[in-house]
Amino acid sequence: MPDRASVQACPRCGRMFQYPGFGPICCSSCKEFDNMEFEKVKKYLNEHGYATSLEIAEATGVTEKKILRYLTESRLEIPESSPIFIQCTVCGCDIRSGKYCTECASRLSSELQGAYMSLAGEKPKFFSQNTGKMHVIKTRDSKREERITMSPRKKDKDKNKDKDKNKDIDKE
Ligand SMILES: [Zn+2]
Ligand SMILES: [Zn+2]
Repeated sequence: MPDRASVQACPRCGRMFQYPGFGPICCSSCKEFDNMEFEKVKKYLNEHGYATSLEIAEATGVTEKKILRYLTESRLEIPESSPIFIQCTVCGCDIRSGKYCTECASRLSSELQGAYMSLAGEKPKFFSQNTGKMHVIKTRDSKREERITMSPRKKDKDKNKDKDKNKDIDKE
């Protein structure tokens, strides 16, 4: 991922666009479509609480691949109660969203001026305070990913409080 503003070709539609230096790399119309799909996923999760990527995909028509990407983009997170998590791409420890654990993200950020903190996910408290070894398969296989449970990020809910007049969202 480039870490500075530049003109990029959108990897999805091929159009050239001005990349601002952070965030997902795609042009504004792909981003808009992406946001629309994400809203569908978020709505489904707000209505159903938790669901696996497979269930979300079947209910919303958004591909599982994209749903898993929302997880690594820290737009969704895995609830504490999940037996399966995703891993920090640097040290391999369990995290609930993003690409890096907070330790690795802050280490990378001090080198690159904060660029990685937006991709930091919390570690699951329950497992990391115990052995940290209760589970499961470190290899990436698609069956395992189908079983990953997701929920909307709490931070997102707070951020959208003003816009969202739907009070049902807060019943966790
Ligand atoms: Zn595009
Ligand atoms: Zn790490």
